[in-house]
Amino acid sequence: MVLVTGASRGIGAATARALAAGGWPVAVGFRNGADAAGEVVSDIAGQGGRALAVAADVTDPAGCERVFDEIEERLGPVLALVNNAGVRADNLSLSISDEDWAVVLETNLTAAFRLTRRALRGMLRARYGRVVNVASVVGPRANPGQANYAASKAGVIGMTKTIAAEVARKGVTVNAVAPGFIETDMTADVPDAVKDAVPARRAGRPEDVAACVRFLASDDAAYVTGTTLYVDGGLAA
Ligand code: NAP
Repeated sequence: MVLVTGASRGIGAATARALAAGGWPVAVGFRNGADAAGEVVSDIAGQGGRALAVAADVTDPAGCERVFDEIEERLGPVLALVNNAGVRADNLSLSISDEDWAVVLETNLTAAFRLTRRALRGMLRARYGRVVNVASVVGPRANPGQANYAASKAGVIGMTKTIAAEVARKGVTVNAVAPGFIETDMTADVPDAVKDAVPARRAGRPEDVAACVRFLASDDAAYVTGTTLYVDGGLAA
């Protein structure tokens, strides 16, 4: 089965649906969006798939341990993990508070590490596993006002490469996707003019990212590891 964190809406919800359509039983993680996660689960069940909504605040290590135990009991071993849950708390660097620095790093980077470390136990035992981390074009590339977010996402990419090299011999792949400007709640306040900077001249859809995650989680991507797949309409080109 696959655990997708932050799958109550946006990119995570689209990813949960895409993975279910690809045959994966899916644990749909959420923090606050219990109803929204429930809808994702119903949709998947309606399409003949298997899914379970799980309350999983990724910044709560003990809670995440419990979630792993619960989903492994109900859906089998976690053979794929999509670290998607993410937040932003933008400000110019002079004005980023310690709290806004910490919450972004904790949610976007530290939690992804902790969950990956937990998932690897079963994956290494199974000699099979897929980890897909949702990074961003921001990190490898500057975006004034997002020093905390950029640090977290650049960290995700570095972490992805290193863990991939550590476990490649064991049949476990670890990759990242780097979305550009995708229309979700997270970007609701981003001016439409930003689209003009995208060579494809449109914002991305959550499904654009989900399709790439589905590929990286598939057997077709068995020889792809440690890489970052940009899903950005050419923004970072
Ligand atoms: P979104 O619409 O704001 O959704 C965020 C999701 O993350 C929600 O499901 C939310 O859950 C969950 N979440 C937040 N904090 C959490 C926590 N502590 N524990 C568990 N879940 C938590 O965002 P999105 O645009 O889909 O973004 C998804 C990922 O893509 C993020 O990592 C983001 O950084 C990355 N990304 C997005 C874009 C973009 O343009 N949208 C671009 C590059 C990268 P609840 O609703 O249940 O609280």
